[in-house]
Amino acid sequence: MSQVHNFSAGPCILPQEVLEKASEAVTNFNDLDLSLLEISHRSVDFVAVMDKAISLVKELLEVPDGYSVIFLQGGASTQFTMVPYNLLSDNGVGVYVNTGTWASKAIKEAGILGKVEVLASSEDKNFTYIPKGYSIPADADYLHITSNNTIFGTQLKEFPECPVNLVCDMSSDIFSRKINVSDFDLIYAGAQKNMGPAGATMVIVKDEILGKVERAIPSMLDYRIHIKKESMYNTPPVFAVYVSMLTLEWLKSQGGVEAIQKVNEAKATLIYEEIDRNPLFKGIVAEEDRSTMNATFILEDESLESDFNQVLADARINGLKGHRSVGGYRASMYNALPIESVQALVDVMNAFAQQHS
Ligand SMILES: *Cc1c(COP(=O)(O)O)cnc(C)c1O
Repeated sequence: MSQVHNFSAGPCILPQEVLEKASEAVTNFNDLDLSLLEISHRSVDFVAVMDKAISLVKELLEVPDGYSVIFLQGGASTQFTMVPYNLLSDNGVGVYVNTGTWASKAIKEAGILGKVEVLASSEDKNFTYIPKGYSIPADADYLHITSNNTIFGTQLKEFPECPVNLVCDMSSDIFSRKINVSDFDLIYAGAQKNMGPAGATMVIVKDEILGKVERAIPSMLDYRIHIKKESMYNTPPVFAVYVSMLTLEWLKSQGGVEAIQKVNEAKATLIYEEIDRNPLFKGIVAEEDRSTMNATFILEDESLESDFNQVLADARINGLKGHRSVGGYRASMYNALPIESVQALVDVMNAFAQQHS
């Protein structure tokens, strides 16, 4: 059978070798004749997995001293609440840039807890661009941004110079490009877009920003407790952490973040050149803000959609349907998606245009 080209937006494609090792661990982990799923998270074998996952994050992102890396549950969505719980003081304000569905949800959750201000928003044009040139109030508790807008297909190419704590939701482009962790105070990412399966959320936080708010923080929402307990305050999502560890090992074997960034840029160039060249298709976001991870586009003539969907199915191209709030198509091209899959999509788009010219 020919290969399936998996453009799923999340949970998304994982490297084949990671899936094979993960399946093996489900039945016989580390030659223990036991499943990874049926041993204690405090066993030597699992503690080694957690340690390795955290050290790979530090190595691959060159996390400087003074930052902690933890694995949590509850998805990136729980971070929408944890961030204000830990960083928003009683009389302070959390400022947000609203670049899409996920940013809007982060704003909503923070507003439950305290004072929130939306500094800039691209909602006026259905989030098809990244707002720029806003000024950040120096007395805010933090600025929250979203590095890649998974649903709309926009991405921050430059991060703001920030006089206050900078918090970034990197769920859908973590490990896809080089970042300077020291430019940020808190980074979080649900694993299922670019670093593993659903169930684990990674947080990188600068230790010195914690412990500054007055409120009592429930233990499960308190970063300091998870840091102190080395991500084992309660039972961690063992399988999700293990598969994330395998994916990070794979990334390291590919040459790390800088090497994968080149591949990701090549994949993005390939698809966007086709979108721009092909008379049947049109990109939907501002060119300078186009995401390397999620390329969104539409058919100019909607009546061709069912034909195009059939052609995609015939070519075994999977997961291209746009998010229900946007429509059209979205090609998600996370780290594990080979450039050959993007080429297969481009070939199909090209052939479709010739057929309909
Ligand atoms: C998917 C996604 C989320 C939500 O992640 P969950 O783990 O499902 O809570 C948040 N932010 C961004 C940018 C995302 O892509």
